[in-house]
Amino acid sequence: MYGFFYLVQNHTTAATRLLPQSLVFLGKRVKMKPREYSNGEIMVVWKAEKCRHAQICTKTLPQVYNIHQRPWIQPENTKTEDLIQQIDQCPSGALTYRYIDREKP
Ligand code: SF4
Repeated sequence: MYGFFYLVQNHTTAATRLLPQSLVFLGKRVKMKPREYSNGEIMVVWKAEKCRHAQICTKTLPQVYNIHQRPWIQPENTKTEDLIQQIDQCPSGALTYRYIDREKP
């Protein structure tokens, strides 16, 4: 049981710090739920299991992507165009976005 809590605790911590890709428990891969961060115009979606930790995001927009802050993605700290341009550079597809207004009927 300790092992389970160790994995969960460390996976949760590590996920927010861009360390692991997904949790493997009893031989099964457990996907994390995508995390979403809004700047009011778009929703930035981060899928931990896809992240390859290239850190392009943290180098390109350090005011938005900072593993030492919570939440680690703060999209309100830059313009939507800059967010989109950076998200398109994510090599793994871990980062995606969608427009919030377009979700309304
Ligand atoms: S750029 Fe994409 S793959 Fe690289 S650390 Fe950021 S989210 Fe992960």
